[in-house]
Amino acid sequence: MLESIALGYFCCALTVSLFSFGKRISYLNALTISIFLTPISGLIAVLKSDRFLRVSHYITRYQCPQCKMEFTEPHIVCPHCEEKKLQIDLHQIKHLQII
Ligand SMILES: [Zn+2]
Repeated sequence: MLESIALGYFCCALTVSLFSFGKRISYLNALTISIFLTPISGLIAVLKSDRFLRVSHYITRYQCPQCKMEFTEPHIVCPHCEEKKLQIDLHQIKHLQII
């Protein structure tokens, strides 16, 4: 009888800690709170924590329209095409980077 209650308690704690994915609280912290401070406290802690922050910013690259090579630094003409005696102006492109 006591073992089934303990097993149910532990399963509730595990279930509550699964809700921590995508939140700022870690799975281990949610599990610890759920085990030592009851699963109801763990559920409150998980629901009160915010979602992960996603930081995004644009990075500027320079691409040659002829050979499609990308460069991180600006050049007046494409160095790769310049070896073939072509003078191709680079186009500035922006990539969205999400961290
Ligand atoms: Zn080129």
